[in-house]
Amino acid sequence: MSQQIYISGEYFSRDDAKISVYDHGLLYGDGVFEGMRIYSGKVFRLHDHMVRLWESALAISLPIPMSIDEMTATVNECVAKNGLDDGYIRLIITRGTGTLGLNPYTCSDPQVIIIADKVALYPAEMYEQGLELVTASTIRNHPAALSPRIKSLNYLNNIMAQMEALKAGCVEAVMLNTKGEVAECTGDNLFIVRRGKLYTPPIDAGILEGITRAVVLELAEAAGIETHETPLTRHDIFIADECFLTGSAAEVIAAVKLDDRVIGTGKPGPITNQLNKAFRELVSS
Ligand code: PMP
Repeated sequence: MSQQIYISGEYFSRDDAKISVYDHGLLYGDGVFEGMRIYSGKVFRLHDHMVRLWESALAISLPIPMSIDEMTATVNECVAKNGLDDGYIRLIITRGTGTLGLNPYTCSDPQVIIIADKVALYPAEMYEQGLELVTASTIRNHPAALSPRIKSLNYLNNIMAQMEALKAGCVEAVMLNTKGEVAECTGDNLFIVRRGKLYTPPIDAGILEGITRAVVLELAEAAGIETHETPLTRHDIFIADECFLTGSAAEVIAAVKLDDRVIGTGKPGPITNQLNKAFRELVSS
């Protein structure tokens, strides 16, 4: 089945799916997006993604040209049209076509783009063995400047940090906030385990309010694991028994090294594996 990309009411082939070069999404990163996972033909936590999308749009005063119910139906239609059983959905709302100036009020046609595709995972061996992290020198955006809670089309902050990771031979980097605390990774939230308890940075550390993060916190609580949303430093990761990352694309993946220090045993730990198993059961139920 050939790929069908939705743009503002119509479906196009991949080659024909195009928007204006005057769209402020392209010119200024002016827009918002969501990345979602399809399991067994259904979008996982679709409503939570819709709520976050609407919150991101509200924060940048971007009117989404349909209701949450209409968007939900459109996403489901796009999944069905693409016949994907397991896959990934990228939903983008751009500010629309305007002038070359910054002024968003010149843009009157926000574009809704929905791309359903196969999922691009990290290599299988990284899920078995865990991945290595470096700390990026690029500081996560200060929430008072551009809140990381807004899933905006402006991902340069994360891209700068990811380039540092890739140059160091890693696929992910730990990003710190202006206080030097751990915020998150470039496209994933971060957790550690110490003495049987689970810790993750709080929202006000300046992070995206990850949907997989929330799911993992729920799964841990259901399993009787004590959870804490509390500020963490690199030192907390160095001395952790376990560390793992969460994200819609990455799911749950162990991190076994940070800046050349081995974390715990250097292998995915028992609580990481337990939560990963619970996550797999949830998404396949
Ligand atoms: N942090 C950032 C910066 C992200 O871009 C993402 C999504 N890729 C996440 C965390 C994880 O969020 P979610 O679990 O909702 O995919």
